[in-house]
Amino acid sequence: MFVREIAAPVSDLKGAGPSIAGRLARLGVFTGADLLLLPPRDYEDRSAKRLLSEFGSGAVNCRVRVVLHDWFGFGRMRTLKIWVQDEAGTRAALVCFNRSFLERSLPVDAELKLYGKFEYRFSELQSSAFDAEPVGDGTGLPDGVRPVYPLTEGLGQSTVRKLVGRALAAWGTVDDEIPPSIRARRGLLRKAEALRALHVPDTPAETVEARRCLAYEELFYLQVMIARLLARGLEERLPFRLTADQKTAIAEIVADMAEPWPMARLLQGDVGSGKTLVAFFAALYAIAGGGQAALMAPTELLARQHADTAARLLEPMGVRLAYLSGNVADAARRPLLAALARGEVDLAIGTHALFSEDVVFKDLRLVVVDEQQRFGVLQRLAMGAKGRKPDLLMMTATPIPRTLALTAYGDLSISTIRTMPAGRLPIITHLARDGNEAKVYEFVRRELAAGRRAYFVYPLVDRSDKLALKDAEAMFERLSREVFPEFHGGLIHARLPEDQKRSTMADFSAGRLSFVVATSVVEVGVDVPEATCMVIEHAERFGLAALHQLRGRVGRSTLQSYCFLVWSDPKGTVNGDEGSRLSEDGKRRVMAMKATTDGFKIAEEDLRIRGPGEITGTTQSGALRLSFADPVRDVELLEMARTDAAALLVADPGLMGQEGSIVRTVIERASPFSERTAATG
Ligand code: ADP
Ligand code: MG
Repeated sequence: MFVREIAAPVSDLKGAGPSIAGRLARLGVFTGADLLLLPPRDYEDRSAKRLLSEFGSGAVNCRVRVVLHDWFGFGRMRTLKIWVQDEAGTRAALVCFNRSFLERSLPVDAELKLYGKFEYRFSELQSSAFDAEPVGDGTGLPDGVRPVYPLTEGLGQSTVRKLVGRALAAWGTVDDEIPPSIRARRGLLRKAEALRALHVPDTPAETVEARRCLAYEELFYLQVMIARLLARGLEERLPFRLTADQKTAIAEIVADMAEPWPMARLLQGDVGSGKTLVAFFAALYAIAGGGQAALMAPTELLARQHADTAARLLEPMGVRLAYLSGNVADAARRPLLAALARGEVDLAIGTHALFSEDVVFKDLRLVVVDEQQRFGVLQRLAMGAKGRKPDLLMMTATPIPRTLALTAYGDLSISTIRTMPAGRLPIITHLARDGNEAKVYEFVRRELAAGRRAYFVYPLVDRSDKLALKDAEAMFERLSREVFPEFHGGLIHARLPEDQKRSTMADFSAGRLSFVVATSVVEVGVDVPEATCMVIEHAERFGLAALHQLRGRVGRSTLQSYCFLVWSDPKGTVNGDEGSRLSEDGKRRVMAMKATTDGFKIAEEDLRIRGPGEITGTTQSGALRLSFADPVRDVELLEMARTDAAALLVADPGLMGQEGSIVRTVIERASPFSERTAATG
């Protein structure tokens, strides 16, 4: 049985009648568990001898002989004073207020075991709070270290000691709760041994060990609970289940964040694999620890989208959000910055404006960089300087082959999401020569008619370039007027004002627009599950990573999605040799896209085509009281517990979900106990 399960009332113990039980209740002690877990407020160390002359360095603890009985005061104030002398010949007075009966039990010439605090008063060495018993009396407690319990009126120290002793005899053989591997690693006592050492220690060192073990245990539960409560809160809001890879990634990240040194981790996962959620869990963990988190996206569009998702999922959980980009007007920006500095914002989402000079965080613990390949090294360093040393989580959909990651980032740790959310169908990729795109448009028309949506992507914004390439503006006109007059479309490119881009995306996302015509601004992160067609014209002009990103804009639901890569023949270009060399590589890229949807394979192929150079571009929980632990004083223990709890979640990600496990069982069994105590206490 676990100690917290011992629900038998203290009145089961001999000597704990109704009146004693009533007094114990005032200390919050009702059950055997309460008594076994009652923390002594102090200890008397009777293992080391301390003579009367040494009274200045602690309680006197030695044998003495009674030399004289003396009296002072009159009438009811008449008080006995017993003079004693130790082996060194030092004399001191025991002042027996209200203890005249000691005249008989401590007669002159008796040898006594004496324990008590002494001081000089009226030029005599004396004590009125002493404990003395005749040597060889037989009734005395053993020498050693004795616990001093908190008391209440009518409840004496010796009564509590006796009852705790009986509780240990009756119920003291409890089971361990902390997994043996952690106990061994942290050098913790077994639970039964810790309780024994707490209440009947042999040495002062044992009491320290016992308290450390019990405090650790409380903090360990606290950490597991915090992580689980939060994770569950978010998980319950999701309309789907986390994939196994998402769970593992979360657990790895949380474990890393729990370490005292700052995290530097790369989260790789193909487009659509669900990295955003993983970042939200990491943010929750930072926030749970009382800190702040920041999530930075490379474009305003993407940052907006993250902010919307966070508003939907995290705000209802009490997470205070802020959105910051270069376009947030000064009037809105100032109060926002003030709130960030005061710690009134938990999660800040935005573009690199999050890390401009005037932005100050109160306690930034986690920085998440989405689509990190888009940011320069300098920006990354600037972020590092914001918090004291925030944990850094970089996310990328452009997988970096392991060998390359090691050379590019050194000791960066990597989490990988390989599996896609269940029910996703692989995207079907078709190639079409320039000139055959009419067939593609016909296919897309059927999809649009079925209520699906499509992206059309072009390499250029307008016709300013001399190359004979289709551009987004002209194609928007053509598609809207000639090709799909029956559907509404929108235009998005980098030169349009932010709010226009935003409202176009919002219309597309809500289904008010059936298609968008864009340059590669839609490349990263945008998430519209109903979009099933991605048409990329002049596909040979795009890099492999960009193509892969673009294709990742579709296939984000259980609907079958399609990617059409329209490419032109080298001979069709006007730039002669330059054009044909470009197109040779372009052809390889387009072929690679046709061959696989696996981002890892695509990255390898990209490496082969380009060469590696470019790629490297506490809280009181309420459910568990802390009797032994003090999160401030025990900060080292807290950190250990955090690491261990997180490691446990890594070893058993099921813990983050609904399935049971030993520790969880313990925690949940512990909760009703503590709630009751809290209610009556
Ligand atoms: P990316 O890894 O490309 O950033 P996102 O985080 O944008 O991917 O997620 C893509 C889509 O998949 C989103 O609509 C998201 O809500 C959804 N999603 C994430 N995790 C799951 C899951 N476990 N099951 C189903 N859908 C999921
Ligand atoms: Mg993303």
